[in-house]
Amino acid sequence: MEIKTITICGGGNAAHAIISVIRNNFSGKINLFLPYGNEVAYFKKLIDEKRFITATIGDNKLYGRPDKVSKFAKEVCKEADLILIPLPAFAHEQTLLQIVPSLKEEAIIGAIPARSGFEYAALKILKDNNKEKVKIFGMQTLPWACRIKEYAASVNILGKKKSVGMAAFPHKITPKLASFLSRVLDLKIEPLPNMLTLTLANVGQIIHPGIMYGLFKGKEQATYQKETIPLFYQGVTKEIAKTLKAISDEILILTEKIKALDKKVNLDHVLGLKDWLIYSYEGSIADKSTIQTCFNTNSAYQGLRAPVKKEKDYFLPDFQARYLTEDVPFGLIVIKSIAQLAEVETPVIDEIILTISQWMGKEYIKGGFLEGKDIKDARIPRNYGMKNLEEIIIY
Ligand code: NAD
Repeated sequence: MEIKTITICGGGNAAHAIISVIRNNFSGKINLFLPYGNEVAYFKKLIDEKRFITATIGDNKLYGRPDKVSKFAKEVCKEADLILIPLPAFAHEQTLLQIVPSLKEEAIIGAIPARSGFEYAALKILKDNNKEKVKIFGMQTLPWACRIKEYAASVNILGKKKSVGMAAFPHKITPKLASFLSRVLDLKIEPLPNMLTLTLANVGQIIHPGIMYGLFKGKEQATYQKETIPLFYQGVTKEIAKTLKAISDEILILTEKIKALDKKVNLDHVLGLKDWLIYSYEGSIADKSTIQTCFNTNSAYQGLRAPVKKEKDYFLPDFQARYLTEDVPFGLIVIKSIAQLAEVETPVIDEIILTISQWMGKEYIKGGFLEGKDIKDARIPRNYGMKNLEEIIIY
């Protein structure tokens, strides 16, 4: 696998972190694709002033800058061997639509993180553009938590995970790609057997909507002062932990049903929530006894508060936050649609989708079915022409 040029998409927190981390471990060319709004002009001006993006990771500082930046895919994607999409899932499709026509046949393109159903959109767009030789991959999560401190200048990287899962299609490229990504991202990348694992093992879809539901159900109109905004992960109560476990259990039941229907599919890496927390945050959890303590005593989660929006002199829960706009239509709803194909009931997931859709002003479920007016915007197999379970189990 010869990778000489890597193109990174977007100018968010994750893209800032990835530019600096990769620059320190990769001697090839790094391009940046910034199609969104007027970001490109802003980025170019600032990086020329600051010269580097400085990433602070513990006591270390890493410095990096892209070699070429453009708003146009043909200028930064044509020569790319590897394209990384570290963007919120709602930006995947429009980004892919711009990139794919410029890709060379040997290119590999992947989302970090994939969230659920990335391959449905990616494979359809590749097919529509006669680029079916292009390979795809997804990572299970972002390797760290990261926040831009100053745009095009500095980013803080915290809570590095012990290991992150990665699956590719076709599967045969997975080991070599995992080893390359592991080197350039400076992190253990665990090769996963298929992309369906990424969807079923997408923990963001459990944690984010689950905690939001627990914190705000019945308190939708609550108002907060800065210091009283609920802590997000440390705010997980016994009751919220019970809801999170119930979502995780429904996904595990679905996983078992798929395994029973297709004896060949390997879904052994789909872990229950508690097992995933302990596996991913081994060194940072002080008390591993329950799901609640895994959140409350995890140093990687300390101090992070629930998403809120400012109103006059107080704050309200923010129901347009990414924890919902990303993790419901690109998470729980994908699970619900696969569960329907596998004929598995998901009463807890249904209740959470229904409640949260109302908060978001969306309608995904109608009369118990995924027939609401906004279902066209969710990344469910049916929206990409896939109508049965066999079509989503690909290797
Ligand atoms: P972000 O909100 O910082 O990304 C914003 C960037 O995305 C923008 O600068 C723009 O370049 C691009 N963008 C936004 N909307 C777009 C659109 N409609 N079309 C094209 N581009 C668009 O996101 P992030 O924090 O870097 O997160 C990236 C991914 O990583 C998300 O899936 C997120 O859930 C996940 N993640 C992030 C963190 C973290 O700590 N930042 C932690 C875990 C997972």
